[in-house]
Amino acid sequence: MDFKLDKSHLLQQELFRKFAETEIKPLAKEMDENEVYDQGLLEKMQKYGFFGIPYSQEYGGGGSDTLAYTLCMEEVSKVDASTGITISVHTSLCCSCIDEFGTEEQKQKYLRPLIDGSKIGCYGLTEPGAGSDVQGAQTVAVKDGDDWLITGSKIFTTNSGFADTCIVFALTDRSVPASKGLTAFIVDLKEMPGIEVSENIERMGIRAASNCIVSYDNVRVSPDRILGGVGKGFKIAMSALDKGRIGIAAQAVGIAQGALNEAIKYAKERKQFGKPVISFQNSQFKCAEMQTKIDAARLLTWRAAKAKDNHEVYGPYAAAAKLFASDTAVEVTRFAVQLMGGYGYCREYPVERMYRDAKITEIYEGTSEVMKMVVSGSMKLK
Ligand SMILES: Cc1cc2nc3c(=O)[nH]c(=O)nc-3n(C[C@H](O)[C@H](O)[C@H](O)COP(=O)(O)OP(=O)(O)OC[C@H]3O[C@@H](n4cnc5c(N)ncnc54)[C@H](O)[C@@H]3O)c2cc1C
Repeated sequence: MDFKLDKSHLLQQELFRKFAETEIKPLAKEMDENEVYDQGLLEKMQKYGFFGIPYSQEYGGGGSDTLAYTLCMEEVSKVDASTGITISVHTSLCCSCIDEFGTEEQKQKYLRPLIDGSKIGCYGLTEPGAGSDVQGAQTVAVKDGDDWLITGSKIFTTNSGFADTCIVFALTDRSVPASKGLTAFIVDLKEMPGIEVSENIERMGIRAASNCIVSYDNVRVSPDRILGGVGKGFKIAMSALDKGRIGIAAQAVGIAQGALNEAIKYAKERKQFGKPVISFQNSQFKCAEMQTKIDAARLLTWRAAKAKDNHEVYGPYAAAAKLFASDTAVEVTRFAVQLMGGYGYCREYPVERMYRDAKITEIYEGTSEVMKMVVSGSMKLK
């Protein structure tokens, strides 16, 4: 058992860290304030390979692994969680569906431009009436000749404001439960008639990320855009979420570590009662407690990533990592604001944004309650 990163991962970690510090950090505050993701930054990340890290070089990807992807997610999320989710939804939710379930033709046509940095992807599963329980899905795809016509509405589709490709899930058979009647389609958001993308949904955190309602009105889709076969959508959706949760766990670790680093820097300079705030034993003990939780969350995340890379069962590991890391992110960012007192509460300092950003990691890609269902389900309790 080796808890240390090898040379290649250390090098990648250093590259991600440098890019995050020099290119993302200076823009994070303004993007959050304006609630718009900087398109120049997006293009830079596409050019430098941030959108295809764990995918095969054969299709234009980075040829690296899930562990490297978690390192990227941690480093970018340390300075900006909105960047983290932009990369994560594209990589783990959209690309993974095509990578795992696509035909060779679909990989060449749709996966290649996504992982070589030409296009951005998103994933539409959640609907206004169907969140934790996919059975409530109402979006349908009706056969019309050889084609399918998709009608319905997907909410909270991250990246949809600027994405090109979306994996959208629709019921192709309403007479059976969604677990059997759901089908995954690859659609072009910018090109297909009948698709409408709303304005960005106003949110508490990750405000620079694009997150919209996508409406489908008789959107015509040819059968070669079906992923994995008719009726296989539920399996595809759940498999993508297993992968996604590793990314969200890493995002939570990044938010927590970033906030703790910022708060410690401040507390070393801030003096009260004639001493730096960091010199109080309470500050030091709390920092020790927070760092220990972050380290534990990181190791859980790496365990899930390594299990995936080793082709072992990793779904429950991913859920455990997300459950613990998201809880840690909320606790650490709350402490970071506290350690900085009133200044921590001000927008001038990044911990205020990080506190708001941390909360979402307990909600998306399955809430903490759903994570407990996945972990307890794997424990053979019944
Ligand atoms: C910013 C943001 C980005 C998102 N991005 C995407 C995206 O890109 N694509 C996408 O498809 N979706 C996306 N989502 C949707 C997200 O995954 C859902 O919000 C999430 O799964 C929870 O669903 P819900 O909001 O409908 O909550 P609900 O399912 O209504 O849950 C409400 C509460 O009830 C609890 N609950 C529900 N069922 C149970 C149960 N059986 N036992 C105990 N407690 C339960 C939940 O844990 C939660 O606390 C995003 C959401 C947000 C806010």
